[in-house]
Amino acid sequence: MPTGYWESEYLLRPADLTIVGAGIVGMSAALHFKKLRPDAHVRIIERAPISAGGTTRNAGFACFGSAGEWLDDLQVLGLAKLQELVQSRAEGLSDMLQLLGEEAIGMSWSGGWELFSERDTDVRLAQQVIRALPEINEAVAPILAKVLGHIHPRLQDSPAALIDKHRARKVGAHQTVALPWEGMIHTGKMVEAFHRALDRANVHRVHGVQVQSFHPKGDQWAIQTHQGQLLTSQLAVCTNGMASDLIPKMDTRPVPNRVLVAKIKPGSWPLGTYHLDRGYLYLRTLGQSHVLFGGGRHWGHDLAPADPVNAQPIQDWDAQLTATAESWLGPLDTITHRWTGWLGVGQDRRPLIGQTQPGLHHAVRLGGMGVAIGTKVGRELATNLASE
Ligand SMILES: Cc1cc2nc3c(=O)[nH]c(=O)nc-3n(C[C@H](O)[C@H](O)[C@H](O)COP(=O)(O)OP(=O)(O)OC[C@H]3O[C@@H](n4cnc5c(N)ncnc54)[C@H](O)[C@@H]3O)c2cc1C
Repeated sequence: MPTGYWESEYLLRPADLTIVGAGIVGMSAALHFKKLRPDAHVRIIERAPISAGGTTRNAGFACFGSAGEWLDDLQVLGLAKLQELVQSRAEGLSDMLQLLGEEAIGMSWSGGWELFSERDTDVRLAQQVIRALPEINEAVAPILAKVLGHIHPRLQDSPAALIDKHRARKVGAHQTVALPWEGMIHTGKMVEAFHRALDRANVHRVHGVQVQSFHPKGDQWAIQTHQGQLLTSQLAVCTNGMASDLIPKMDTRPVPNRVLVAKIKPGSWPLGTYHLDRGYLYLRTLGQSHVLFGGGRHWGHDLAPADPVNAQPIQDWDAQLTATAESWLGPLDTITHRWTGWLGVGQDRRPLIGQTQPGLHHAVRLGGMGVAIGTKVGRELATNLASE
């Protein structure tokens, strides 16, 4: 890629560390690595002008799961794994707040709610969840208090989940479980805050360049991009669901989520974040006059990253998403945005953080909770890189 003297000798000189992917994980890893090795020359290579993964396309829930998800996890994974998951989400959010600051990421401690409709399956699920609330609270509340209590002292003694009949009446739900520890961030502000922090830390960001492959070259790595070759001593792959394109057999694949943003009558829906259908669907307010509604990967629509927006599966998905949103919000006259975002998922719900060869590391497979855990995952990757 470097062609002229100034490029090859200086601007695109070999890096100490190159990170592929400017999502939350890649950006967090770069910042934490610079704290450990202030003199290192660190470069991030990103294929898109800003980013093209979950990081710029998410819903901005600062969440740790819902009561229904916790009950599921308790039954399927057991107590220890549930607690491990909740702890990593709480620590991840705490890491992000420490790294970037509450104001910079537009953090709002709005509270979250899990909604159960009048449908038979939802009524049954609500009964199960409500019956299990003491057990859920015993498992989850002490972890949230321990990790986030200092940030949010008002909630120190709060349960993690409790019945909220008042909110149920307001939103027309059969039952509502409040999640007082939950909040929301402004995703755009978070990404900008990361960029400002990277610039301050002297991390070299190269956008619009796709990494195609890499191979060892002497004691360095040669990175092949669609614009030529770059060299680096260490390499970290942070491309989430796309990682198996670069490291074969990596157990992660891209899975789509569809999202819409609609205009609503100002103040017609109470501020906050909302989980539906055990977290497969989600809704949040964007100020007083818009809501974001998304998810639906359990509906099984089969999309490919290259599908055009008028492809039939996308249209079917949008129709189903709109109908479900309208069942809660009433007719939506103006839908202002629709988009697809890609999750990285695999056999296990935990992220994959590791090393496949000397100098070649990865931190991928963030699932649906990367806003919460991504910063911490980046920190762990940076620690591994610095201690190699
Ligand atoms: C619709 C949606 C809603 C979500 N809502 C929430 C939420 O409310 N709360 C929550 O906690 N989590 C949420 N998530 C999950 C969260 O956004 C992700 O888990 C997180 O952003 C993943 O971060 P990442 O850095 O691992 O990967 P990504 O953000 O996917 O970043 C990977 C980057 O790598 C780049 N890349 C890929 N291949 C290459 C290549 N070959 N060369 C160069 N660059 C490459 C991509 O362009 C991308 O920018 C949501 C995700 C989606 C899709």
